[in-house]
Amino acid sequence: MATTPQSRGCESPGCDKSANLQCPTCMKLGIQGSYFCSQSCFKENWKSHKVLHKIAQGEAIDGSDSKDKEYNPWPHFRYTGKLRPFPQSKKRTVPASIPRPDYADHPGGIPRSELEMKMKATHIKTLSDEEIEGMRVACKLGREVLDEAAKVIGVGVTTDEIDRVVHEACIERECYPSPLNYYQFPRSCCTSVNEVICHGIPDLRPLENGDICNVDVTVYHRDFHGDLNETFLIGEVSETARKLTQVTWECLEKAISIVKPQEKYRDIGNVIQKHAHANGFSVVRSYCGHGIHQLFHTAPSIPHYAKNKVIGIMKPGHCFTIEPMISQGAWRDDTWPDKWTAVTIDGLLSAQFEHTLLVTDTGVEVLTKRNGHNGQPYFMD
Ligand SMILES: [Zn+2]
Ligand SMILES: [Zn+2]
Repeated sequence: MATTPQSRGCESPGCDKSANLQCPTCMKLGIQGSYFCSQSCFKENWKSHKVLHKIAQGEAIDGSDSKDKEYNPWPHFRYTGKLRPFPQSKKRTVPASIPRPDYADHPGGIPRSELEMKMKATHIKTLSDEEIEGMRVACKLGREVLDEAAKVIGVGVTTDEIDRVVHEACIERECYPSPLNYYQFPRSCCTSVNEVICHGIPDLRPLENGDICNVDVTVYHRDFHGDLNETFLIGEVSETARKLTQVTWECLEKAISIVKPQEKYRDIGNVIQKHAHANGFSVVRSYCGHGIHQLFHTAPSIPHYAKNKVIGIMKPGHCFTIEPMISQGAWRDDTWPDKWTAVTIDGLLSAQFEHTLLVTDTGVEVLTKRNGHNGQPYFMD
């Protein structure tokens, strides 16, 4: 899963400059944060940019194919793309014998320990050898759980079925599925289909030929969280979907390759955005990588976009995730009324990959690495 930032770059895909010019129409319509570096970038980007104005003015930008007219929990909500929510199955529970994080039994799903840490400033924890071993185990189990999901995912399989497999694989390994009840998230993993950027809620929609679907797994085992995700190609996908998925994976790999002691956390975003923009894609700005250990989401917060001003230097014993979300069109996101499902503003595709990493004395250990296949993700098999 991912966390939230701020900073200001040029809106134009492929432009890395910082930006101070604001679109006058956006200002009039009350659209926040449309900045460009220059008039020429503004003009070049006009065709795709003006879609934002249409959305704000309430015009439909896309003929939706709502096959299931019976189920529409938010009849007045204007979807950005074609995907629709489906009903969810009954809630799943975790046996009381499996140790769980503090938010698991809180009625609001509030992680008190995370909030207490936030009060104490943005200190990045250096893990002891014993704690590092705890992280290795949790991350290995998290990887096994994602491997189980990979075995069943495909055309006609519902995301709820993926959630069931993840949930049961967690329990078999004495893990609590970390997303379950985290700020009241209702399921045991996130499944993000097509225009969903992240935090999609598993439901009874069967995956269709041509979909892309990210499965994000986090497990909690003996006090430690391990967090990873992969995007899967469902059946035969478009050339664009495949390229987006490939480039997103490369963004993660390139970012991991700079991880070592003394490296600045803020440089991760520079590497990712350079590669995404070189391929004509954009970097989601609202969700970040995060520190992870006994806490699910904690310092540091790691933006994936360039020229971010995040403070902090990597040190041996730091554990954190990198989880770039790369979009086919605009980087901007919207959120469904379920308060979780983050989607692209233009309804175009978004892909993601995530690993949990440990900074070592000499570089990096990818704690959630796949066994075999050179550590490469499933879509490359
Ligand atoms: Zn995460
Ligand atoms: Zn995750």
